[in-house]
Amino acid sequence: MRHLDDKTSVLDELPRRTFLGAGTAALASVAFASLKAGAQTRENTSKAEKDHSASNPGPQNTPLINENPNANMPPPTDHGDIGPMWYSFDLTHRRIQEGGWTDQVTQRELPTSTDIAGVSMRLTAGSFRELHWHTANEWAYMEYGNARITLFDLDGTMFVDDVGPGDLWYFPAGSPHSIQGLGPDGAQFLLVFDQGLFSEEDTFLISEFMAHTPADVLMKNSRLSQSDIAKLPQEALYIFPAPLPKSLAEDRASIPPSRAKSRKQFTFKPSTLDPIVKNDAGEVRVVDSRNFPVDTTISAGIIRLTPGSMRELHWHPNAAEWQYWLTGKGRVGVVTTHGNARTMDFHANDVGFVPIDAGHYFENTGNTDLLVLEMFKAPTFQDFSLNNWIRSMPPEMAMAHLRLDAAAIAKIPAEKLYIMR
Ligand code: MN
Ligand code: MN
Repeated sequence: MRHLDDKTSVLDELPRRTFLGAGTAALASVAFASLKAGAQTRENTSKAEKDHSASNPGPQNTPLINENPNANMPPPTDHGDIGPMWYSFDLTHRRIQEGGWTDQVTQRELPTSTDIAGVSMRLTAGSFRELHWHTANEWAYMEYGNARITLFDLDGTMFVDDVGPGDLWYFPAGSPHSIQGLGPDGAQFLLVFDQGLFSEEDTFLISEFMAHTPADVLMKNSRLSQSDIAKLPQEALYIFPAPLPKSLAEDRASIPPSRAKSRKQFTFKPSTLDPIVKNDAGEVRVVDSRNFPVDTTISAGIIRLTPGSMRELHWHPNAAEWQYWLTGKGRVGVVTTHGNARTMDFHANDVGFVPIDAGHYFENTGNTDLLVLEMFKAPTFQDFSLNNWIRSMPPEMAMAHLRLDAAAIAKIPAEKLYIMR
């Protein structure tokens, strides 16, 4: 709802781009005209875009403008400020050391994202992400290659498994775990943590636990000799090269039988899951605590869209959405309260944010398939479809609100489609 009795809101209603070319007198008349008109219309903003108002004779970062035409020349429906909704792993500092690298997009980079932080990690063949644990729960999506993961569970059992492209894992907070790149070329993967301020730098490492315990305590505790203790790493390993492991079967067989085979399944292969939707617009898979029971805190929609297709207008009642763009390109539109709305373009390796309950969509604007993860700090994936709601209410209610007749209302798809073209 626009509040036209509020002076600031009235100024907000002006076609903002008109300010670029307008002098004070012209501005005053525009303000007057706009007051008379009552509100910014789609038509007058479109007109401003086509005439001299949208000209931009000053300096420009052309590559950035070309990447994000919808931010530079927003659709006339964009309005106000919804807060940051875009960041890219390709803008972050990359921590590179022998064996691989990490970079991260957290609440520090994307301040609206208080629920979720993301880390991108590369491990070359044989290299380890050192044995560690942390305060956040960890959800992961394998993007490339293969990795061996291990987790030591509370019941004293070891979980060991191999993951390949598209596979997921979930490590509960505090549970110690490892990741090792396998042949032929290691792995690359996305980690999603359910704390916005999580940092991959803030993990508990086996090397540091031992290096910072006095030698006499360590000798008493571990029964290692003084000379053994002298060989331990003196500082964090974090990522380091190592020989490739044995086969999965051999590694599993090397664990004492009483500690082998955790009863829980900490990995998941979405490729074995029937999509909830599959048609010429693409396909949708949902992974959450209902089909991946160990994962009680993070839910995911895995959305593939064919060129020109879109994720329908919808919102999520239980959590904000953190997006990761895996392949392709597209645009995201978000509408929040006070009519505030923003449209931005996204590419592979970008991160998106949508506030809880805010209406949104995304659309494949490229000529290849678009693959996007919709992530939530919530045990289940939940969404409302705008179309489905409109067609579920008494038609007279829809007609009164949308100022349409019954025939027009009947054109709106009645079911939740998730994706459409
Ligand atoms: Mn971890
Ligand atoms: Mn969504």
